[in-house]
Amino acid sequence: MSTKKLTGKVALVTGGSRGLGAAIAKRLAQDGAAVALTYTSSPQKADEVVLAIEAAGGRALAIRADSANVEAVKNAIAETVKTFGRLDILVNNAGVGAFTAIDQISLDDFDRLVAVNVKGVFVATQEAVRHMGEGGRIIMIGSVNSDLMPFAGGSVYALTKGAIASFTRGLARDLGPRGITVNNIQPGPVDTDMNPAEGPFAERMKSMIALQRYGQSEEVAGMVSYLASAEAAFITGANLKIDGGFTA
Ligand code: NDP
Repeated sequence: MSTKKLTGKVALVTGGSRGLGAAIAKRLAQDGAAVALTYTSSPQKADEVVLAIEAAGGRALAIRADSANVEAVKNAIAETVKTFGRLDILVNNAGVGAFTAIDQISLDDFDRLVAVNVKGVFVATQEAVRHMGEGGRIIMIGSVNSDLMPFAGGSVYALTKGAIASFTRGLARDLGPRGITVNNIQPGPVDTDMNPAEGPFAERMKSMIALQRYGQSEEVAGMVSYLASAEAAFITGANLKIDGGFTA
């Protein structure tokens, strides 16, 4: 009999084709969960994640679903439940950034950021909790930028991540009586396509991080794994930083 901590659980990770989401999907599968992951523009990358999980003996499913498209998000949840029979863990990871000064950012950019980073999270969460029972887990990937924005141009991104921090607190109250926990992981700089450790901002960023380096996606995935587990049953409504001391 398997002793993996998430055996029998089913997880959906939004934006699981690359970066943090890919590492989270792989980690939850390694812990024994069957994992569905969404993507928008990288079918090949999404398939690679599925193949890696299957090669390690796990079960996975890639679903094309733009988080800004309400019907696509609803369908992704329905397909996950149809394929794996239930839904226990939702990781709201899909997100986009736009770093443009307030007098330059367009209304279209604003709408896109809010649609993916906020409305998509709302729709996925509302739909997912219809299928979740006692022990359910909602895990947001927010950002330290909801509390600290140390450079210009990130106001709208910070706005969206601040919304997620507040949404987490409210949801914890709604879902606590059902035994479902809701937590927001707030990473500092993590080396991904969105924020490469060798990118134009990297040296400035590293100088502000106590540990003087970027985080790795697998480090954030470890925190997701813990929050998804039974051991974390008394943690809810929490905004938890993993930032190498960026905000210390
Ligand atoms: P990446 O840009 O490296 O990867 C983004 C992932 O999300 C991809 O799998 C992408 O899919 C998917 N995605 C993007 N837009 C959509 C959409 N509209 N619908 C569905 N999926 C989508 O980003 P990161 O891994 O760096 O970021 C993941 C999350 O972590 C985001 O919410 C981000 O804000 C947050 N974060 C990141 C930090 C960092 O330093 N990297 C720090 C703090 C928070 P596809 O491949 O199909 O495009």
